[in-house]
Amino acid sequence: MPNKKKNKAENLLLKQESFWDIATREEQSKAFEFCEGYKTFLNTNKTERQVILDSISLAKKSGFKDANFEVRIGDNKKFIFNNRNKSAIFISLGENGFTQGAKILLAHTDSPRLDLKVRPLYEDTGIAYLKPHYYGGIKKYQWPTIPLSMIGTVILKDGKEIEINIGEHKDDQVFLISDLLPHIDLERMDKPLKKAIGAEELNIIVGSRPIGDKKIKDRVKLSVLEWLNKNYQMSEVDLFTADIRFVPSFPVRDVGFDRSMIAGYGQDDRVCVYTGLTAFLASKENQTKILFLADKEEIGSVGTTGAKSLFLENVLEHLLLKTNAPISINDLFRQSKAISADVTAALDPDYKASHDPRNSPYLGNGAVIEKFLGWGGKMMSTDAEPKFIREIVDLFNKKKVVWQTGHLGKIDEGGGGTIAVYLANRNLDVIDVGVGLLNMHAPYELASKADIYSAYKGYNVFFES
Ligand SMILES: [Zn+2]
Repeated sequence: MPNKKKNKAENLLLKQESFWDIATREEQSKAFEFCEGYKTFLNTNKTERQVILDSISLAKKSGFKDANFEVRIGDNKKFIFNNRNKSAIFISLGENGFTQGAKILLAHTDSPRLDLKVRPLYEDTGIAYLKPHYYGGIKKYQWPTIPLSMIGTVILKDGKEIEINIGEHKDDQVFLISDLLPHIDLERMDKPLKKAIGAEELNIIVGSRPIGDKKIKDRVKLSVLEWLNKNYQMSEVDLFTADIRFVPSFPVRDVGFDRSMIAGYGQDDRVCVYTGLTAFLASKENQTKILFLADKEEIGSVGTTGAKSLFLENVLEHLLLKTNAPISINDLFRQSKAISADVTAALDPDYKASHDPRNSPYLGNGAVIEKFLGWGGKMMSTDAEPKFIREIVDLFNKKKVVWQTGHLGKIDEGGGGTIAVYLANRNLDVIDVGVGLLNMHAPYELASKADIYSAYKGYNVFFES
């Protein structure tokens, strides 16, 4: 009775299948179409500030309005709270206001990159350099010999705010970290990857043409300062006061003959920012929903703009008061449910030994649900509640969201934390749902269009559930 056996297997086994095998043709076309918008977003937003400003302008097209702590609330039901252009909270009030809690999605705006040291500009043997301080978890050997863009914000002496963006336009100049030719690098070639290139050797080449006056010292450095002054009214102190990031200049591209994947810088976690934002904006407005885009996840979710800050409480307490909501902030949290939307590592067939192939997520198998992360003995893990996991699994199955289970690498091979803990601390149910990447934290990360679209769909049905 082969059929009966097949049915039995069907009922008993947990299937982890490829989106491309189970999604309809129409659904697959939708995935490709959806990713065109994502590619534009990823291409234009390479810093946390750009991510926030673009997200705000997209939300405004859907009727969201700037709300700051002084403005009257009035009849408005769709609010944007912008925190220093680096994190933001978007809130849409449903029919019951805050009385029955809210659906919350948290994603992060920052990605690994090169920031600058405090006195970064110097010259050495006729070449001018900016000395970076890396931000987040990077593999240092991946950063030399790739084109870098300089993006940032400078506040001048007179208070004027200047935006710098050099390297993103195809005719722009770019910046570069050099590496030694293999011919004379034999000693270093024997070093382990971790030690081959030190942080102090990552220096960004920014000029080589000296100013004319030979009597002056540091003529190339001065020539760079002259250029910065002419084009951005900056002087050396502004390199100290400014927020300047160096990021890979590569544009976002389709990958593969079949164009089924996307390569781009900063997909961690802008893939979840974009899918979360578009799902949030597209979902029905009958329920109260919150989108929290937080900064500083890559360095521990700290500071005024990180997920650990009291900005969320600040915003919610303000709105509870202004809307005369008959509920305390703690009751609101207790009744809320959240998705922590972040990327994870999909199994890389070239490095199977670092993964557990029976437990890893796979590229193309849909949105990844992770019940816990952490390292060692589940250190710093949230452990989602079984009732909530069941709820999400049933919801995704009912709404035909292609999903898979996820687990980060082999135990004791490393591990990673999750931003979910900072929502769980507030006493609300939270689970990680995100997109599996190859090359995570590299200058050019790889994602599957199937997984990006599945995450969007998953977040959308969550907001509507
Ligand atoms: Zn992340």
